Order: sequence, then C-alpha cells, then structure tokens
Amino acid sequence: MVKIELSNSIKELHFQYCKRYVNFKKDIDLYIDEKQLKKINNLEKKYTLEDIKNVHNEFISFCENNLEEIAIGNPNRLKEIITTVKSEYRVIDFMFEKNVTVYIDGELVKYSDVILEMYNYEGFTKFNSTSKGFLYRKEDKNIIFNNIKNNTEGLSDSTINEFVELLYDRLNIKKQNIIKRIEEDKFYSYWNAYTFVFLIDIKTCPYCNRQYITPIFYDNGRMRADLDHFFPKSKYPYLSMSIYNLIPCCKFCNSSLKGKKEFDIDTINPYESSIDDYIKFKFEILQNKEIDIKLENKNECGSVKIDKYIDIFKLEQQYKYHTNIVDELICRKLMYSDEYIEDIRKYFEKKNLYISSQKIKEIAIGYITDNKNINKEPLSKLKRDVVNQMNGKIDILNEEEDILEYILKCLEIY
Ligand SMILES: [Zn+2]
Repeated sequence: MVKIELSNSIKELHFQYCKRYVNFKKDIDLYIDEKQLKKINNLEKKYTLEDIKNVHNEFISFCENNLEEIAIGNPNRLKEIITTVKSEYRVIDFMFEKNVTVYIDGELVKYSDVILEMYNYEGFTKFNSTSKGFLYRKEDKNIIFNNIKNNTEGLSDSTINEFVELLYDRLNIKKQNIIKRIEEDKFYSYWNAYTFVFLIDIKTCPYCNRQYITPIFYDNGRMRADLDHFFPKSKYPYLSMSIYNLIPCCKFCNSSLKGKKEFDIDTINPYESSIDDYIKFKFEILQNKEIDIKLENKNECGSVKIDKYIDIFKLEQQYKYHTNIVDELICRKLMYSDEYIEDIRKYFEKKNLYISSQKIKEIAIGYITDNKNINKEPLSKLKRDVVNQMNGKIDILNEEEDILEYILKCLEIY
C-alpha cells in the first residue's frame, strides 16, 4: 500500500539476467494460415505473410535495442514502450490482443507465447528444475561472490557484495546452517523469482496489506509469493520480464481477485505511487456498538485510477471482515490514554531509559506510523488509520460513560 522502492542492485542483477537469458528470435520459421491472416487483415492495411515476417523481425530488433529499458525501465517508461508498440508495430499488438496463432517450425502456438518464451519468464520463476534448490552455507559467501562475478559482465564488486549480504541477511542464514544446493555455474541459481521476492524490502502484499508474502525455504523445497504482471503477459509478453511489471503479491489478490483482469494504463502502480496516499480506512460505531469499516477515497481528481484498483481487489469488502482488530485497537487506545503513556515514559526516564512517548504509544496500542514499515506487517495501514481517526476523536464516544461501556464490551470479548 506504500510505494515499493527497488534498489539499484536488484535492477542491475535483473538486467544481467535478461542480458543472459533473453533469446531474441529473429528470422524464425514463421507461418500463418489463411484464417488467421484474414483475422489480421481486418486491420486497415493488408498484410501478407512476408509483411508479417518483416514486422516480426523489426519488432524483435526493437526489443533487442531496448532491452535495458524493457528489463528495468520504470513504470512510466513501460507505458511509453506500450504506446510505441501499439503505434509502430500495430499488427504485432493486434496479434497479442486477438490471440492470433502461428506455426513455428511447423508447430501451432499462440504468437504471444513465442515472445513470452523468448523472454524466458518461465525460467525465471521455475529456476533450477533439475536440482532441488539452493545450498548456501555460512562459509559459501566467497563462492557465491565468485560465481556471480564469473557469470556476469559489468556488475561492480560492491553490487555483488550487497546482493550476497542481503541474501544472507534475508535467508536467515544465521539460524539455518544449510539452505539447499545451488548449481554453481548457473546465474539463475542466484537471481530468480525467489531471490527477487526475498530482496524486495516488503513482507506483505502491496495490493491488500492483508497477507504475508515472505518466501520460505525448507529441506525439500521452497515457497514464494505470486508475481502479478501489472500489464498482463498475454497482451504484453514483451513486458513479461520487466522488473517494474512484476508485483509480488498474495494468492488472493493475484489468482482469486485480479486473475486476468487488466489494469488501465493509468491505474495506480505500487512501484509508482502509494495507494496509502489516496485511500483511508474509517470505522463507525453503530448504535448497537458494533463496528463498521469503510474505505474513503481521499483524492478526488485521481479517483478514476483508484476506483478500478479498489474494485478489482474488493478492498472495502475484504476489510469489513476485520472489525475485531478495530475493536481491539479502540479498546487499547482508550486504555492507554496520553496521561498514562506519559507516566510510562517517566517511569523509564527514572531508570535512564529514554523512550519517546510516540514510541511507547505505538508499542502499547499496537500500530505503526512510519510509512516505510506499512508494507512490513499485515493490516498496518488499517491500524494506523484507525488510531489517527481516534486522535481526531469519535463522536459517539465523547462521554466517559460511553468509553467505559465500550472498554467493558471489549474486555468481555477478549
Ligand atoms: Zn493481497
């Protein structure tokens, strides 16, 4: 829910991967049958098989010349690339859009799959299918460093070091002596969908902030979050390996909710802006003291982009379920009054421990204010919004009698 930042080392490693594993397919044995050609020729210009072969080659050259931009260009750059493809390679875009099938070496395939295969997204997500996984030992740091160094071109030592350190830090090497086997000479043993999700500095789904997306490695396998293609790979296969098009997210958001639904080109992208800036959760205490949770759209002018997002992920409906969390927070907020927090602060101060009242408040009530941490714990946006709303007072709980009654009600629950 807060903008995700990608470090330079993530981008450099990813570009290295693409340089190594994207296999540009020019001058392929391409054939399109009459029926598919007819489909294509619904466009204003008439295309022959030869025309299409030529445009295909031109399009592949475009992909080749723009590899860096496509691999690690930011969301705005990706939008520009989409616009260029739609205008300059119209027939190619049409073939993706309409699921046109072609024969490659005599085999019938979707044209979009040809491009998808060229970018090798499958290899990135299903790395190491022959061996069982990684093996990182504490003492392996130098081996990993040298392997990456020998298998890449132009990566600085400091980038490789940063990557190795991060890998060790996030893989919890200190606690687990052995993780798994690596194929020492394969760069994809180090850079793949698993390490990407590890190194990206978020732990919860950026779309919903309800589920953890932390990868897990265990003796015989591994698990990781889904990767959603912000621009779907069926229509934009040339962006299937674009790092800013890969959003690690929970299965609810990827499979159950978004599925193949497409964002508009100007829908808010978690790499571009913080959805947190545009929406706010608000609770209401109904007459019977039940809680209702609503979602407010804070930004009027940008509402179109946000509406689609809120609708696809059913954010309001998903959050209405969490009334117990809100109940608990309200109760804690009422119990830990500002005076009480001040007493706690003074208590520690007497013992020469200087903790700010804000910090004590966050720990006691159980919420966080630092935006950087919102993506690290589930429901932290909801919790922060609820506490903020209470700082602005809640009408129905103005009377002391009401407050006590509310606390009593909560205590009965827990
Ligand atoms: Zn999610």
